[in-house]
Amino acid sequence: MLPVAVIGAGAAGLMAAIHAAGTGCRVVLLERTRDGGRKILISGGGRCNVLPSQLDPARFVSESPPHLVRRVLAGWPLARQRAFFEEVLGLPLALEAESGKLFPVSNRARDVRDRLVAGARDAGAELRFGTAVTGVERSAAGWGVMFEDQAPLEAGAVIVATGGLSVPATGSDGMGLSIARRLGHTIRETYPALTPLVADPPVHAHLSGLSLEVRIEARVGGKRFRSEGGFLFTHRGYSGPSVLDLSHLAVRSRLTGGERQVLRVAWSRESAEVWNARLQRRSPRTVQSTLREVIPARLVEQLLGESQVRAGCQLAQLSRDDRRRIVELLSAYPLPWTGDEGYRKAEVTGGGVALEEIDPVTLQSRLCPGIHFCGEVLDAFGPIGGHNFAWAWATGRAAGLGVSVSAR
Ligand SMILES: Cc1cc2nc3c(=O)[nH]c(=O)nc-3n(C[C@H](O)[C@H](O)[C@H](O)COP(=O)(O)OP(=O)(O)OC[C@H]3O[C@@H](n4cnc5c(N)ncnc54)[C@H](O)[C@@H]3O)c2cc1C
Repeated sequence: MLPVAVIGAGAAGLMAAIHAAGTGCRVVLLERTRDGGRKILISGGGRCNVLPSQLDPARFVSESPPHLVRRVLAGWPLARQRAFFEEVLGLPLALEAESGKLFPVSNRARDVRDRLVAGARDAGAELRFGTAVTGVERSAAGWGVMFEDQAPLEAGAVIVATGGLSVPATGSDGMGLSIARRLGHTIRETYPALTPLVADPPVHAHLSGLSLEVRIEARVGGKRFRSEGGFLFTHRGYSGPSVLDLSHLAVRSRLTGGERQVLRVAWSRESAEVWNARLQRRSPRTVQSTLREVIPARLVEQLLGESQVRAGCQLAQLSRDDRRRIVELLSAYPLPWTGDEGYRKAEVTGGGVALEEIDPVTLQSRLCPGIHFCGEVLDAFGPIGGHNFAWAWATGRAAGLGVSVSAR
């Protein structure tokens, strides 16, 4: 029997190799870097947020029909994914209550990567590190996997698990997208997603390092998008989960050359109405001290500066126009972003192989039987919080199990 070639030993490829080998297929896992799973190592700040505590398919972004994303994710429900890590890989996970994220109890991303690599080896897969694939072509017996400096590998089936274009330093340079394109697949336009935004000039650089919980809203064609969570001022602009989760809207507005997407930030949980009522009190308290009860002092200085209201101004002295201006800055602050950090810092790639051309159960190409796709190379990504690994695990497993049929 010809082997199954899995291209890429990242999250999706390792999971695919474990499951394909588990069904009795001969599996050869081909990985460009010398150890694989480099994105796992840098994930979750080195702790690897393996899964979310709740998985919401509606929060995934894809240009493909939404029911396909739901269908793929339904193939391996969250509880079973968790059980696989804990019971099969022996990697207990713990819930971080405040974020709703699941991390390995050891808090070490390396443990996740190493368990997956060991799992693939234990299942019988042959791992070839330091091996870059340059293409996939039809052959008389099945598929030929091409390399720069060695003879092609004859494979009965191929799983393309090369990732997308995010953080190329981890080994993913878009080769899988080129392979898919050459095989005739539709590639939805790719773009950096979950990436920090920048402001040029960096008007808030003096706030760098300041973090707080915010709510961000955007409107696209009458549809409202919202993210809540951590916000971080950086030297060059803005980051944190709340920014990353909506960054694709900003990135895409820039790429399409249309109007720059407006992102409005509420710097606290309080609504505009609550702030308005609070600032309307006829009190000798200053505006500054009232704001400081809720908003970090450095940001209060910035907002007061922008509103041109004196720091020492008492609530009782605040004019209606000044109050309106401050309430607007507090609850719907237009983030002055001008660009983004691109693929260099993007956690995922937006766009990719169109899901309509892929069977949602086996992840097999509808155009090229014997070719399967999984992970980030596909046209879908989720929000921060473990959703993207859940996608990689679910698609990797489905491709691994699916290939046992197509390889025969
Ligand atoms: C900084 C950062 C933090 C993140 N944190 C989280 C998190 O905490 N939780 C979460 O859910 N998601 C997180 N993500 C997203 C998550 O890491 C990705 O969604 C996931 O790793 C994608 O898995 P993948 O296997 O599809 O692709 P990748 O992880 O990119 O793996 C692709 C593999 O294929 C190999 N490869 C590529 N081309 C070739 C070729 N031609 N020949 C041979 N090998 C090749 C690459 O070397 C690589 O090893 C994070 C991402 C980043 C960048």
